[in-house]
Amino acid sequence: MREGLIERYREHLPFEPGDRVVSLLEGSTPLLEAPLLSERVGAEVYLKLEGANPTGSFKDRGMTCAVSAALREGAEAVICASTGNTAASAAAYAARAGIRCAVIVPDGKIAMGKLAQALMHGAQVVALQGNFDMALTMVRELADSYPIALVNSVHEFRLAGQKTAAFEVVDDLGDAPDVLAVPVGNAGNITAYWRGFSEMGTAPRMFGFQAEGAAPLVLGHEVEHPETLASAIRIGRPARGVEAMQAVQESDGAIMDAYRFMAVREGMFCEPASSAAVAGLLKYGHGGAQRVVCVMTGRGLKDQQTAMEHHGGTIIPCEPEMAALVQAVLG
Ligand SMILES: *Cc1c(COP(=O)(O)O)cnc(C)c1O
Repeated sequence: MREGLIERYREHLPFEPGDRVVSLLEGSTPLLEAPLLSERVGAEVYLKLEGANPTGSFKDRGMTCAVSAALREGAEAVICASTGNTAASAAAYAARAGIRCAVIVPDGKIAMGKLAQALMHGAQVVALQGNFDMALTMVRELADSYPIALVNSVHEFRLAGQKTAAFEVVDDLGDAPDVLAVPVGNAGNITAYWRGFSEMGTAPRMFGFQAEGAAPLVLGHEVEHPETLASAIRIGRPARGVEAMQAVQESDGAIMDAYRFMAVREGMFCEPASSAAVAGLLKYGHGGAQRVVCVMTGRGLKDQQTAMEHHGGTIIPCEPEMAALVQAVLG
């Protein structure tokens, strides 16, 4: 039987054998070779397919831990601020645990698939008339004053869960890669990978990429009104800024090119945020690395609107007649 990541990595995680575990069998995601991207980058590039997690993003790794810990502490409800995927994941794990969940999202700024997930799982969805950074500040304050557990990546259990992705990469490659490329929003994930690699006694270089318009770690100051099509990383005041500071660079308009390249040439439909890492790798190069792992943080289907606006294809209308079909197909 396949196991969830708490069972698989319990010795590395802050859980005891008797603790109740809330799992949807997250983790153990594939590491896929990317031949065409490798050719363009000039190094062996592998994709860590985190969209293969139960709710379609890496957030499930942290959420199995955060919700299990919340149950252990007797919480009857969890809350998070989210650019979308944390909300979808928290809602799913809370549903599984049988506890209530509230998600605070920036109004009109999250991808429809993620909103649909949170609503389907029965979360209380609050659309804040403000951005993610305001939402996070407010839920932290609320969680301090009420008996409701905060499951944002300020939560240590989230990082503990997320570091297991690094263990899997080392397992699959037989060693750490030379470089890990990852999109950065709150900088929770890059911090977690670093911890995971460190615990394995390895130290690959961590290339973090922010989107132009939402690049506070690159600029060295907060961005009051972050803007980017990569909504999962539309964050101006990262909760984990300091720890990841050394390694972050900016992906610019090339994010949409990378988004299409991955789908058209590699068969990999990822989120716009995930393609920020690919765009960064293409822009800044492999830095002398032989083996690079690029983290595909979330799956493309979550954000169909961005896909429909940027696919570059066409839909050909056709009368139900053979001549018209031949014309449509063969041009
Ligand atoms: C959350 C998220 C990120 C950013 O991760 P951080 O831990 O906030 O840096 C990147 N891509 C996707 C798809 C995400 O959901």
